[in-house]
Amino acid sequence: MTITFRCPKCGVELSFDDLSQSSAPCPQCGHAIPVHATAAMRDHNTADRCALCDCPHVYVQKDFNRAFGVSLFVIAAIASCWLYFYNKVWQAFAVLLGAAAVDYLLYRILPDVIICYRCHSQYRDFAPDTGYAAFELGLAEKYDPKDKSRGAENPAADWKQR
Ligand SMILES: [Zn+2]
Ligand SMILES: [Zn+2]
Repeated sequence: MTITFRCPKCGVELSFDDLSQSSAPCPQCGHAIPVHATAAMRDHNTADRCALCDCPHVYVQKDFNRAFGVSLFVIAAIASCWLYFYNKVWQAFAVLLGAAAVDYLLYRILPDVIICYRCHSQYRDFAPDTGYAAFELGLAEKYDPKDKSRGAENPAADWKQR
């Protein structure tokens, strides 16, 4: 299992996969980062809670770049409108269907990533397990960090502005 996270002191992005230690120093600022690895993490390679901030809630989602997914559909929609304008109706529908098919395929083949509600640490290459919980807005509100710049990858960050 690989953990990607930001140093709580200097904010540099780090990743490590050694869960045998109880603390690891940040290579940039030397801050000792505590590692609360559970027996399940060490023995079964699963992330049942966050090893970095000890948050008991994590969620699983597709390891998918949201910006890429959105731009794929924007480009397909523009191309479709343009084709429709030139009376190429079937081609216009084909472009939209093609974009939907690519999206579906990506969703099927992409791996999962586990994310901590509180510190947004990301866990990859864990043992496949269907027991992981999906994203819940209520929990995201509960653990929403005070520092918004660190929550840039948190979907709840933009939901809050509604
Ligand atoms: Zn640091
Ligand atoms: Zn955490």
